[in-house]
Amino acid sequence: MDVTQCNDCKRLRTYCERIGKEKRKAYQNDQYWARPVPAFGVPQPEVVIVGLAPGAHGANRTGRVFTGDRSGEWLYRALHRADFANQSESTGLGDGLQLKNAIVTCVVKCAPPDNKPTPGEIARCSKKFFDVEIQKYSRARVYIALGQIAFHALWKKLGNQKTRPKFEHGKEIELEKGLLLLSYHPSQQNTFTGRLTEPMFDRIFARANDALRAGPAKSTAELC
Ligand code: SF4
Repeated sequence: MDVTQCNDCKRLRTYCERIGKEKRKAYQNDQYWARPVPAFGVPQPEVVIVGLAPGAHGANRTGRVFTGDRSGEWLYRALHRADFANQSESTGLGDGLQLKNAIVTCVVKCAPPDNKPTPGEIARCSKKFFDVEIQKYSRARVYIALGQIAFHALWKKLGNQKTRPKFEHGKEIELEKGLLLLSYHPSQQNTFTGRLTEPMFDRIFARANDALRAGPAKSTAELC
């Protein structure tokens, strides 16, 4: 099913459409996307970057994941510095941005009120779209979880039923399918307070590049 046509979560669909009509004052002349937001990047990436959900006036406005708000500015600048993007700015569909060997996606495809999807909404969207997507990326070797919920969703899919480790920024976890890197989400809550700095964020993507250069994932015998 085309993700952009999904209406399964009534609360989220109502919210996204309402925000799209009310609009923020600064964007009164914009036509809001106001639909579920698909992943953005190459179809078969080696690097998969996962966030929580679209921002109400960011991706829910522009139609591209992590685009149109401060979190996205941080993410695409970092991707450009690490050579996973051809430009540092992501302003909207048709701006010329292309990712290299990477894809950016979210666990939940519709913007939630207060950036907080319910556990039921997370489970529903994961089952219907996110888990299927992750399965589809057969060349993926590095997964980057931006925040705890992204980590939990990835772990559920890739953790091979092992006990989930504690979330820590910078933590690296060997998976059967590759390497999982944990990062704080580049939300304003983290970046304005200095909890996440650009050098900290850059180190995550530098590790992704190191892992790609190091070659295929370790054999099963070496995995934790
Ligand atoms: S959050 Fe996911 S499952 Fe729910 S309506 Fe949006 S696309 Fe559909």
